[in-house]
Amino acid sequence: MSVRQIRVVGDPVLRAKAHPVRRFGDHLEALVEDMVETMHAAAGIGLAAPQVGVLERVIVIELSQEEQDPGSGQLYVLVNPQIARASTEEEAGIEGCLSVPGYVGEVVRHQAVTVKGQDVQGRKIRIKAQGLLARVFQHEIDHLDGVLYIDKLTAPDSVWQVVEGEEELAEARGKVESQAVASPSDGLALA
Ligand code: ZN
Repeated sequence: MSVRQIRVVGDPVLRAKAHPVRRFGDHLEALVEDMVETMHAAAGIGLAAPQVGVLERVIVIELSQEEQDPGSGQLYVLVNPQIARASTEEEAGIEGCLSVPGYVGEVVRHQAVTVKGQDVQGRKIRIKAQGLLARVFQHEIDHLDGVLYIDKLTAPDSVWQVVEGEEELAEARGKVESQAVASPSDGLALA
């Protein structure tokens, strides 16, 4: 296992469409292991393969239960994920992204989604998610189509600068606004 380099906004790989995975086996398992290790090392709560430069439709998500231990939540690994159902109810929330360091922004997402896909062995799986987990699924699946949260801000100035490394924490706590410094022009320049 190894920690891979996280690509940041400006890298064209983040804007490309990832390919469906057709071959399951050692290569895929190694990729997933590295993605989980990379997500933990960055204290992230989700990671999509294009963020480590691999254009394959693979995502990993883990909402840590303990602040100091990124490996303390339930791990979801999804290959070829698709949103099968989405609630009509939507909600605005604050998101950060490991590929957009130093910023968070407000995005509207479906409150609940059912995601279907395959596990690392190729078996079909279906996951019902709501709230933060549903939001992270939508954020990660967007990455597979070259879409970043900064494309979907509720308003052009709904993006804030934060202390680098605190983005995902801020997202999970959902109280970033009080500590954020408004810097919309810088945020949009990054897009
Ligand atoms: Zn992201």
